[in-house]
Amino acid sequence: MKDVYDAIPKVELHCHVEGTIRPSTVAELAKKNGRALPVGNVEDLYRYDSLNGFLEIFWFVQEMLADQGDWERIAYESIVDAVPHGLRYRETFFTPARHLRAGQDLGGIVDGLTRGLEAAEAETGVGSMLICDMDRAYGGAAGLELVDRLVELRKAGRAARVIGVGMDSTELGVDLHDYVPAYELARSARLRCTAHAGEDTGPLNIWTAVEVLKVERIDHGLSILEDAELTKRASAERIALTVCPNSNVVIANKVETLSAHPFRRMREAGLLATLNTDDPAMTDLDLGKEYRTVAEALDLSLQDMAAVALDGVEATWLEDAGKRDLRARFLAELEPVLSA
Ligand SMILES: [Zn+2]
Repeated sequence: MKDVYDAIPKVELHCHVEGTIRPSTVAELAKKNGRALPVGNVEDLYRYDSLNGFLEIFWFVQEMLADQGDWERIAYESIVDAVPHGLRYRETFFTPARHLRAGQDLGGIVDGLTRGLEAAEAETGVGSMLICDMDRAYGGAAGLELVDRLVELRKAGRAARVIGVGMDSTELGVDLHDYVPAYELARSARLRCTAHAGEDTGPLNIWTAVEVLKVERIDHGLSILEDAELTKRASAERIALTVCPNSNVVIANKVETLSAHPFRRMREAGLLATLNTDDPAMTDLDLGKEYRTVAEALDLSLQDMAAVALDGVEATWLEDAGKRDLRARFLAELEPVLSA
């Protein structure tokens, strides 16, 4: 019988396409690119004993994406692998800074990703859009340059699937004010805006993203409850948080165990807190497992998890009619799950 948590229909708003790559695909791309795997056995690729160990593999995997065909392949596989676990719609991050620095062209990367997503949609019926992330390790000027190039592509009709911009990578030692010009340009080009914030830092980081960068969503937002006023404002304005509890335990090491994670308290405080996998392949995760482990660790009922899934629809950047259609579909799919 199908796992009940896999059967819950879900959207996903915080998933990095570079973190979805199957170990077997990494091995094939490494062979194609003439590179040796850093581990003897491909099954051990995504096993780490430290954050540094994780980052080492993360960078290795990034380097395997060498041409348009590679981007197309990982985009396609990222969707078909997630559908059996309940994925019905996704807004996927890609972070091209490192690849652009190595001489790849943003247009080529976007074309590859788009072809992969289109093929997956034709096969599974699951739609997905893209969010272009600035990598904070490269600084505000590189961020502005990236958004500028993206806006150019959109004007040329080449990046219709890229509906927003975000930022990720390191939080410590980064002044978010450096990214104001990039976000202003994105907004003026009618791109939606989000940012990773409050993952490794306190609530001031989230305040700055909301107040100064004027983002509409917060990715992670783990520290938000430390500030009562910010919590009140985010819940009143329905500012969505794309929370990734398993990632916070495994990658950021900010929460010792899932049962110590504030996700349940975020929901009880009225926040529009959604559930997401961040880098699922690299953490032995999928959406069904994310829902199941969080429900079990925080003692949330199936009804609670259905509410989380429906809040995911509200938090998307779909037009109102698209949200209504998806919500109706979710309710129809949830009915047998909840009455079983
Ligand atoms: Zn992330």
